[in-house]
Amino acid sequence: MDLDKAIRKVPDFPKPGILFYDITSIFMNPDAFRYVVDKMLANYSDGEVDGVISIESRGFLLGSCFAYSKKVPLVLARKKGKLPGKTISQSYLLEYGSATLEIHESDLIPGKRWLIIDDLIATGGTLEAVASMIENSNAHVAGIFSIVGLPFLNYQERIGKYQPVTLIDYNGESVDQIIADK
Ligand code: AMP
Repeated sequence: MDLDKAIRKVPDFPKPGILFYDITSIFMNPDAFRYVVDKMLANYSDGEVDGVISIESRGFLLGSCFAYSKKVPLVLARKKGKLPGKTISQSYLLEYGSATLEIHESDLIPGKRWLIIDDLIATGGTLEAVASMIENSNAHVAGIFSIVGLPFLNYQERIGKYQPVTLIDYNGESVDQIIADK
């Protein structure tokens, strides 16, 4: 499977200078979708993870596949203001801006081992925010899974201790280079 080919690259989105790796194109490609889900599931043996926390919105697509297949609970980490019940929240810096994520307090069961799933790791700030919510709730981070990693943004410094798993890494090619390669 050539996963690189299955990922749409959009230069200058959402801001000039950002190369956006759009993984929604994977879901247009049934072979690539199956490949990604199968690889994700193969990384974690049954019983290793008590539940999944997936991050709005593209993380939901993978998180629900994991929860369905492994028969574990799925918790949604949503952008501020979307969840109706009592929440815990954490603010963090993004590669392009800042944001706050919230989780229903009653969903984050203490003592459980939670796998965090998102589509892409850039600086690691988003995943670090969710990991801190888990730890502040006296639960454990069982691991981190993402399709894409951008290791040149040094996310290992922030979240390396949670042993993040990615299926494909990009090393900061310039936008010009990506366009020339097309
Ligand atoms: P970070 O917190 O810096 O690791 O940013 C990760 C989050 O922002 C993920 O939820 C991604 O969906 C999104 N993101 C950041 N940079 C990019 C990018 N270059 N392409 C696609 N998504 C990105």
